[in-house]
Amino acid sequence: MVVFFRWGTDPAPTGNGNAGPPDIGRPIPQGWKHERTDVGFVTMPSTQSLVDQGPAFLAHEVGHFLGLHHTFPGTSDGPIIDLKDGETLTPAQAQERLIRFIRRNGGSAIALDGDLVKDTAVDPGTAFWRMHGHPECGRPDSVRVRGTLDLIPYDLTLRPPRDNIMSYYRCAEKRFTPGQIEKLQATIAHPSRSHLVKHQSRFDWSGWFPVGGTFHAGDTVAVVARRPGTFEVFGRASDGRLWQNDYPAPTPDRWTGWNLTAPGAVASGPPTAVTWSADHVQLFFVGTDGQAWTCNWFDKTGWSGMFPLGGSFGAGESLAAVARTKGTFELFGRGSDGVLWQNDYSTQGWTGWNRTAPSAVASGPPTAVTWSADHVSLFFVGTDGQAWTVNWYDETGWSGVFPLGGSFGTGESLAAIARSKETFELFGRGSDGRVWQNDYPAATPDGWTGWTVTAPGLSPSGSPTALSHDADSMQVFALDAGSALQTTYWGNLDA
Ligand SMILES: [Zn+2]
Repeated sequence: MVVFFRWGTDPAPTGNGNAGPPDIGRPIPQGWKHERTDVGFVTMPSTQSLVDQGPAFLAHEVGHFLGLHHTFPGTSDGPIIDLKDGETLTPAQAQERLIRFIRRNGGSAIALDGDLVKDTAVDPGTAFWRMHGHPECGRPDSVRVRGTLDLIPYDLTLRPPRDNIMSYYRCAEKRFTPGQIEKLQATIAHPSRSHLVKHQSRFDWSGWFPVGGTFHAGDTVAVVARRPGTFEVFGRASDGRLWQNDYPAPTPDRWTGWNLTAPGAVASGPPTAVTWSADHVQLFFVGTDGQAWTCNWFDKTGWSGMFPLGGSFGAGESLAAVARTKGTFELFGRGSDGVLWQNDYSTQGWTGWNRTAPSAVASGPPTAVTWSADHVSLFFVGTDGQAWTVNWYDETGWSGVFPLGGSFGTGESLAAIARSKETFELFGRGSDGRVWQNDYPAATPDGWTGWTVTAPGLSPSGSPTALSHDADSMQVFALDAGSALQTTYWGNLDA
């Protein structure tokens, strides 16, 4: 809850309290129908005593903020008896004006029900009370209003709730009634105010969960999300064949289990997966002949055969692939000399392998990320064991290479995701065996946060893979010491 304390520009303190009951779908009293209901804060003067608002002033304003109206009709009590600034009335004049107000508003004392709360008494307001000659507090506690106006007699006894926090009577003992407390609680439960009592979002790592399988020692898996909340994971067994395990959205916490996939594929390194659309997955891997190979899945046609893409890559190497637009690929791989090569696919077919990202020299396979159709960033471990990056924009071509620090073993690959445009989260298995993370958050352009240990609870036996479904979540996959797959989630664990 936000409470503003106001002073104003004058030397003397100024300002009344102010807050607005939100509209929670219950009847709104007549006198408040044209007031704002979206006031998301409480304003208060600097000190309550200087503006003489009475002992329950803060509670009164918070009462408004949490859904309560005044016990008297309206947002101030002068208008009930049509009281002008500085005007003084006799008790008879005040009574007449009060009766006129009542007759304009239905004719019974219900017209003085300001809050539509059943157990708060009707309230003619402090202005009437004062003009009638009663002290604001103490005895007497009621006034009988009796007479004849326009030839029609009237007779009612008013006992205003002078001990109520939502009245204007400046009496010492004040309270909310059970009916008001019920409304306060209903308002707090309403979406307009429920953030006040909800648990704080707790963004953290979930801890690691086993996904099973048995993979080539030290490998990395490939993962795609064809739809939010789903995963398809691909891993290479020690015989080079590829296995798949799916986490389909309609069955939470249920993996389909590992199945042989991409028939005919025999990989000499970890696979890489890319998707263009909800019905498509493309796999890339280095074959036993050192060439790049690809195969694809479409829901309609199932797995394609295997297509060789040329190139010359070492055993155990993985490729990096991005689809900047539907129907295209950019494929990156590290040649045996450590330099990076690129092969692009479009409607014209594959371009063939060309040297790329000049001056990049990698000691492990590259990773590629794109956040827009004109952009690719590559990440790799350099010969100095640091992480390095280089990026492409259509307009400017390749940037130079930038070191990102860290300490990683030879042959290690990094995992990179862009949860939103112009941000990165980078993961790697440090030379100490733990998972490390380095972020490039949008809020601090040109600033990496630096490497910190992350995703606690597992020292993987291979490089991690990462994926994000949206700006508020990340999922990391890595093999454990037994070469089985484990995964950990980062996000709002209370959601
Ligand atoms: Zn008020």
